[in-house]
Amino acid sequence: KSAQPDPAKPGLIGRILRRAEDEPRRVLDDEMLESLEELLIQSDMGVETAMRVTANLAQGRMGRRVSVREIKQALADEIARIMEPVARPLPLYPTRPQVVLVVGVNGSGKTTTIGKLASQLSAAGKKVVIAAGDTFRAAAVEQLQVWGDRAGVPVLTAPEGSDPASLAFDAMTRAQADGADLLMIDTAGRLQNRQDLMEELAKIVRVIRKKDPEAPHNTILVLDATTGQNAITQVEIFRKIADVSGLVMTKLDGTAKGGVLVALADRFGLPIHAIGVGEKIDDLAPFDPQEFARALVG
Ligand code: GDP
Repeated sequence: KSAQPDPAKPGLIGRILRRAEDEPRRVLDDEMLESLEELLIQSDMGVETAMRVTANLAQGRMGRRVSVREIKQALADEIARIMEPVARPLPLYPTRPQVVLVVGVNGSGKTTTIGKLASQLSAAGKKVVIAAGDTFRAAAVEQLQVWGDRAGVPVLTAPEGSDPASLAFDAMTRAQADGADLLMIDTAGRLQNRQDLMEELAKIVRVIRKKDPEAPHNTILVLDATTGQNAITQVEIFRKIADVSGLVMTKLDGTAKGGVLVALADRFGLPIHAIGVGEKIDDLAPFDPQEFARALVG
């Protein structure tokens, strides 16, 4: 399965450029540059990033005859160059358990991502424990249990409405006793009450640090790529309430909004550990900057 946006749906840029494809070479002028910039902005790359990408593209090419192929290749190279530093899988440490806190708004794909990650790590021989820390959403807990069963990973739960920090503490105890390699903790995603959420996350961190002062070793923010520029706001908010160390971008299958990843990389430089490319357990892929850039340009 392709790790990137659905190739059946050509990237926005590709679609428009295709119109010019029978016109083999044309002069790169301000007008063409402006329409390229417009396309990049439409793909949710953000104005600043789009301007920089096109400015770099123009260097040494302005006023020259260029082919559509050359433009596409140059755009893809520019985009890949921005993305390369952030393409970093979840780092694995010898610490046992490595505690991975997973944050993000409801609906972003947190539950699904934890299931997919647990399945991959477990298939790679890692002993994983999941804590269903979103104790207020019974459906999320049930869903995690389904994923956990499929992946053969234990999912620790607590009664609906109970204190997530106390569950996290119990999960930490269990993971330590079992000699687990990783403990993944799901968290609530109710941004409506930011203060509450902040306190809830802070309390989880406080109690797990009683067991390991270095924990959590990673805080992954899960973002829905189809929300476009909204994802940027979410990073800003979550960085204020948690110590975000990396991202997972979900729903990259068949979205034309993939450009937001470029904006995120450019702006925050946070590692992109993986991308979600579907709803099934195997639909989590490493982030490949070259392939991504090619798919985006189309
Ligand atoms: P949570 O509320 O953040 O825990 O989100 P869920 O994990 O429940 O996901 C919300 C919806 O998005 C579900 O219908 C998932 O199947 C779907 N979803 C999650 N990740 C992906 C993905 O990478 N691609 C697609 N197409 N759907 C996804």
